[in-house]
Amino acid sequence: MRDDTPTAPSLAHGPRTLAIPGPSIIPERVLRAMHRPSPNIYTGPLVDLTHSLIPDLKAVARTEHAATIYIGNGHAVWEACLANTHARGDLVLIPRTGTFADGWGEIAEDLGLRVEYLDFGNRTAMDAAAIGQRLRDDTNHEIRSVLAVHVDTSSSVRSDIAAIRAEMDAAGHPALLQADCMASLGCDRFEMDEWGADVMIAGCQKGLMTPAGMAFVFYNDRADRARERADCVTGYWDWRPRTNPDYYFRYFYGTGPTHHLYGLREALDMIVHEEGIENVWARHAVLAGALHAAFDTWEAPGGLELNVRNPADRSNAVTAVRLPDHGTRLRDWAEHQVGVTLGIGLGMAPRDSPEADGFFRVGHMGHLSAHSMMGTLGAIQAALVALDVPHGGDGLAAAARAIAGR
Ligand SMILES: *Cc1c(COP(=O)(O)O)cnc(C)c1O
Repeated sequence: MRDDTPTAPSLAHGPRTLAIPGPSIIPERVLRAMHRPSPNIYTGPLVDLTHSLIPDLKAVARTEHAATIYIGNGHAVWEACLANTHARGDLVLIPRTGTFADGWGEIAEDLGLRVEYLDFGNRTAMDAAAIGQRLRDDTNHEIRSVLAVHVDTSSSVRSDIAAIRAEMDAAGHPALLQADCMASLGCDRFEMDEWGADVMIAGCQKGLMTPAGMAFVFYNDRADRARERADCVTGYWDWRPRTNPDYYFRYFYGTGPTHHLYGLREALDMIVHEEGIENVWARHAVLAGALHAAFDTWEAPGGLELNVRNPADRSNAVTAVRLPDHGTRLRDWAEHQVGVTLGIGLGMAPRDSPEADGFFRVGHMGHLSAHSMMGTLGAIQAALVALDVPHGGDGLAAAARAIAGR
């Protein structure tokens, strides 16, 4: 008989946790809701269930305007929102706080739009006043949209969307304000109507706790007026037939994402009807506060450091960490020895350079309790000790105090 017993025992057997910034943990309830035979897609319960999702999606987005569901990921709705609001050759302004701005810009360029970036680096929020100044300089109103990523998942920088709207209004500029809330929806507070976003896009696999495969475009009447002059939108991407469709098939321009719809129904029950969106945001804020307290305590010269220095610019959904030389080692150790999977660093250094090993990210979006946050932080503290990474005080104790409200 062959003896496959590894020499060094791993402590990762038992429950594991996924702490990457999307896809996020799928609750058992959501998985179970999806475990069923294929439904009829012409009449019956699935049709009513789909109708019922729309008001709940709007409740999470905090909008009274239109909501559409696409079968696709974030890239799909990056394209969908632009295709419905622009003509080829239009200029869009992209304030940049990380690589997700670049991703959206590439899609814009592929559609034949002209892209101008306003780069704010990857450690601080967008400077709304600088955006306002650029718009005031645009006296011919060439800029047709400002494309703002609310939380950039690579840097974990969160920007102030309401402040950007205030600057746009003060400049008297008619551009649309389009927000990417892929990472933040259902985690960080976002108020589409009150903050004056004309378009908002998000997906189902992060704060909404549903397997990847559906994404959403929310848009108001101003954005729909821009649809009149859009010249690169095709039938499939057109948001109009998908909004209040005259027959079920038009919701999705074909067969709906049947099982995802059951999953999303369950997730929205949890978020909107059981916990309540305000409480969901509050939970994310307290848990993120515990995580920030831990990292601020661990911080040490030659050791780890939160990427975003200003607490007001930090997201409640994802956290990027700088740990020169040890980032990849720590991630590997936590995964193999403790069963906690942390996220890779993204966009901080060229992928093949040695510096690329100096980062990791923690995803804390969606199905996350104080218990799971403490578990993830405990794994990181154990890794710091095991790998002799320079670190300061007892971060886990600081997190416990934050959760205890002390
Ligand atoms: C995840 C994410 C995307 C891309 O989503 P995909 O589903 O991977 O295409 C876009 N923007 C932000 C801010 C994200 O976090």
